[in-house]
Amino acid sequence: MFKLFVQTLGCKVNSYESDALTDCFRERGFELTQDYAQADVFLINTCTVTAEADRKSRQMIRRAKKRAPHAVVAAMGCQVEMNVEKCEADVFVGTKDRIKIVDEVVSLLLQRLNSLQSVKASPSIDRKSCDYQEYGSVVAQDSERAFIKIQDGCDRFCSYCIIPYARGRSRSRSFENIISEARMLSASGYKEVVITGINICAYGLDFPGESVSLVDVVRGIADCKGIHRIRLGSMEPMYLSKSVIENFSGIEKLCKHFHISLQSGSDRVLNAMNRHYDTGFFKELVLEIKRLMPEASITTDIIAGFPSETREEHEESLSFAASCSFSKIHVFPYSSRKGTLAEQLTPVVSPEIIKSRTEDFLELARLSHQVYAMSRIGCQENVLVELREKDGLLSGYSEGYLRVYLQSGDDRLLSNVIQVIPEALFLDGVIGKTMSYEVVNS
Ligand code: SF4
Repeated sequence: MFKLFVQTLGCKVNSYESDALTDCFRERGFELTQDYAQADVFLINTCTVTAEADRKSRQMIRRAKKRAPHAVVAAMGCQVEMNVEKCEADVFVGTKDRIKIVDEVVSLLLQRLNSLQSVKASPSIDRKSCDYQEYGSVVAQDSERAFIKIQDGCDRFCSYCIIPYARGRSRSRSFENIISEARMLSASGYKEVVITGINICAYGLDFPGESVSLVDVVRGIADCKGIHRIRLGSMEPMYLSKSVIENFSGIEKLCKHFHISLQSGSDRVLNAMNRHYDTGFFKELVLEIKRLMPEASITTDIIAGFPSETREEHEESLSFAASCSFSKIHVFPYSSRKGTLAEQLTPVVSPEIIKSRTEDFLELARLSHQVYAMSRIGCQENVLVELREKDGLLSGYSEGYLRVYLQSGDDRLLSNVIQVIPEALFLDGVIGKTMSYEVVNS
């Protein structure tokens, strides 16, 4: 994790703005430090209200460069605004659009990191993307797992979904920026990255005449040393094929956990949802995953009480979902979104019936998860140990996203991927014993 050291001169407004920028850096995974010797970034918020404040501001920038020559020195504020051509900081911004300094700092850090690591990307892939809004780098979610956004927007217009209107068409992030971020995450100590986006399977389809795809992204991230494992975010089945699944099965660092949104197990309802696949297609995907990766965990989303869904279709949906042996089901009671096609669909399902259909699926979800957890008892799980729980147990997640608890007083296990044999069901997962203290997939 990169360390940020902040110095502020001047008024309360400056302090407020320093706090705001500090939060922006935190959102990118930076950690605040009070020790300038540890800083990777100095952020100096300057003041020019008096000649003395002006002098101190310049002095602070010079001192920072002297004290930590390896660090990025970033300056902003009134003194910079009035003396922009003389500013000696590595990156600087005046009083407007301050937030862009975060991107500039991150990009300079990445450049420095890249020059240290010099990992080459495949020259056969032109990774340009025109419209993707690049936010720079790390969005830290918790201590061990980080998210990499690779794509935004969606072209599918499922009849219940507002996303294509709210976020626009699908845009893929540049391959190079994704890989740079993965390297930065790895250098910051993250062991697991989750590939995320609105529709990650659409990655690369908007690059004209190009062949870069989600599989290339996973392989590219897998090549980053230090990343132990990669998890795929939610996927839309209409973009998956047997060959994509086959490619996934060959990537060792990829967690064999696939979250594929089913939404309904009734073909008529799927059609009304404008989902562009049927249950037969979905089942083929499930069978192919199980054929190539028998231990894979498949999770899904279901919408309960979609307009026009009959009692029989709901039963059909329940029984199809049960036949897929999902390890987890996220159940969403249908809620109408203004401006979507489904808003016009009739007959609407009453709130009481939506509630009862939601409960039916929640019960199936509970049972399915229990069956999956029981099926893992006695099997080897690679667990990223993340937490020391209040009751003293350690906990983490398996590749299949099963919560695994273990009894151990050894804090050295934290932040490592270790082998565990689950022995019994426990709380929301299983409890087991450590098989090996060796880091897996390093
Ligand atoms: S549900 Fe997914 S695939 Fe369908 S429109 Fe929304 S974001 Fe796109």
